[in-house]
Amino acid sequence: MSALLEVTGLTKRYSSHGRVVQALDNVSFSIAEGETLAVVGPSGSGKSTLSRVITRLVSADAGSVRFAGTDWLALPAAALRRERPRMQMVFQDPLEAVNPRATVFSAIADPLRIHRLVPRREFRRAVIHLLDKVQLPASLLDRAVHEISGGQRQRVALARALACQPRLIVLDEAVSALDVSLRARIIDLLIDLQRAEKLSYLFVSHDLAVVKATAHRTAVMEAGRIVEIGPTPALINAPQSEMARALIAAVPRLNLSRTL
Ligand code: ADP
Repeated sequence: MSALLEVTGLTKRYSSHGRVVQALDNVSFSIAEGETLAVVGPSGSGKSTLSRVITRLVSADAGSVRFAGTDWLALPAAALRRERPRMQMVFQDPLEAVNPRATVFSAIADPLRIHRLVPRREFRRAVIHLLDKVQLPASLLDRAVHEISGGQRQRVALARALACQPRLIVLDEAVSALDVSLRARIIDLLIDLQRAEKLSYLFVSHDLAVVKATAHRTAVMEAGRIVEIGPTPALINAPQSEMARALIAAVPRLNLSRTL
């Protein structure tokens, strides 16, 4: 598999109240086409900064990101607008990205319109098709986004991302707010979509239990650095770092599966 995303030496410092925080410290990894890489770590370890730098919501101090053949962090504004649909992001709270007063239809049609992905007269058909991909009925089309359930909103956010025909979706704590059974269903959907759409995921989570089912490889972050990276089963069964051991210990059922 060839690398779709190649991150080299990413570094980011924040200055706040006269204090410098090294949020990312020389972070390097790659993600292959069709691969899921999880990034796990405790609060404050730099996971969100990493996803925000990669999606160009915040700038890096040093390092590079190659994405789908482009020098991603160096793309000027016009080229970035053109290429942006290929890298989508889904947050923990999808209302952050979608105006809560918008209807399901407009939330999903927005990217089609903004990026001119389909002719206007085909919006309705395209949106229904996208709803179908995330296993939501067409009857939701005219509902306000704030009226539907958290699980449905997360599916709408996914449909909105899929509208852009992305190669990579960055999922930042995207299932963390959902209860366990809803979460399992969204994870199943993500796995199905990955196969059907040949998607890669960067799956950011503080919870190893969430990534166990989805991630081919897992990177463990601590204080802005990747302290361990490898195939997820190996990392869970034979963790090398103190931080990986601590994250595993925080999920009792993971521990149990180790001893079976
Ligand atoms: P995580 O997502 O793992 O919780 P973050 O990337 O949010 O970690 O934060 C990494 C570090 O950077 C933390 O020490 C956090 O306080 C700091 N940080 C994050 N965003 C900012 C900001 N905008 N200004 C100052 N410090 C920040």
